[in-house]
Amino acid sequence: MTRIAVVGSLNMDLIIQTPRLPSPGETVIGREFITAPGGKGANQAVAAARLGAHVELIGRVGADDFGRTLRETCTLANVNTKNVLIDDTAATGVAIIQVDDSGQNTIVVAAGANARVTPADVDAARTAITSSNALVVQLEVPLVTVEHALRLARAAHVLTVLNPAPAQHLAPAVLALADIIIPNESEATRLTGIAVNDWASAESAARALNHNNARAIIITLGARGALALANNRVIRVPSFPVHAIDATAAGDAFVAAFAVAFAAGQDLDRALHEANAAGALATTQLGAQPSLPTRAELDAFLRQESSR
Ligand code: ADP
Repeated sequence: MTRIAVVGSLNMDLIIQTPRLPSPGETVIGREFITAPGGKGANQAVAAARLGAHVELIGRVGADDFGRTLRETCTLANVNTKNVLIDDTAATGVAIIQVDDSGQNTIVVAAGANARVTPADVDAARTAITSSNALVVQLEVPLVTVEHALRLARAAHVLTVLNPAPAQHLAPAVLALADIIIPNESEATRLTGIAVNDWASAESAARALNHNNARAIIITLGARGALALANNRVIRVPSFPVHAIDATAAGDAFVAAFAVAFAAGQDLDRALHEANAAGALATTQLGAQPSLPTRAELDAFLRQESSR
């Protein structure tokens, strides 16, 4: 069984659907309010587990109801949470999310316990990481911790996958620790200074990010699809046509599906194909974790698409 370790965040998402996103200072009357388990770390861990991987999550929650619920939902999704510590000095991370009718969103995150995940936490979970086929990290826990995890995995010859989200500038030395780097448009823009908004600018950004010889740079382009650069080969992956209602966690589904497929030994093109389908499926339902596809759903979708 493919083993994936994720060092990352767990957040409770507080989501309001609204006809449109408010401008600063404006009040808009929204529609439904829901709470849903989220955080990029937990989302990617749950996504990988739904796709059939054995998953270990390393992180922190507060000693509160949200924290208990988050650990429980991960456990129910078959994610091992032995290394999700309960921090009694911080609140569980939360994300306040607004989603409009076109599926666009705005998100504000209060990191809480996620900001307290330390390199020592990573060391305590060392065997969970070194026994994995891939380590997946994002940027919702402190960068020193992310770097430490990447170094530890690298030293153990574990595939390292960096999803540099949310957008943040990173030193080349940090990028060099990743075998696979998967930013979206705004993250790629922040990392390179190149305004990424179409295939051509995505290719330029991928080339700019490639100076450290990563095995692949993959830029996700929302409804357009994704662009990959590997071994000087550029691969354009057009998106699957779906009725998108909420883009939350599309990137998380993409990253997890790519990591699971590639760590399992699939070639780059196949892993991109599966990731693209997982991303598309994640846009068809509201919320982060509720929208992440299972292996059966992903396979059924791929079969249906290949017979079109
Ligand atoms: P993020 O959620 O990080 O902003 P993207 O919006 O780039 O990430 O989406 C990640 C992936 O999900 C895309 O590369 C694509 O494969 C898929 N995806 C996103 N939006 C759509 C859409 N409207 N239709 C089909 N696929 C989509």
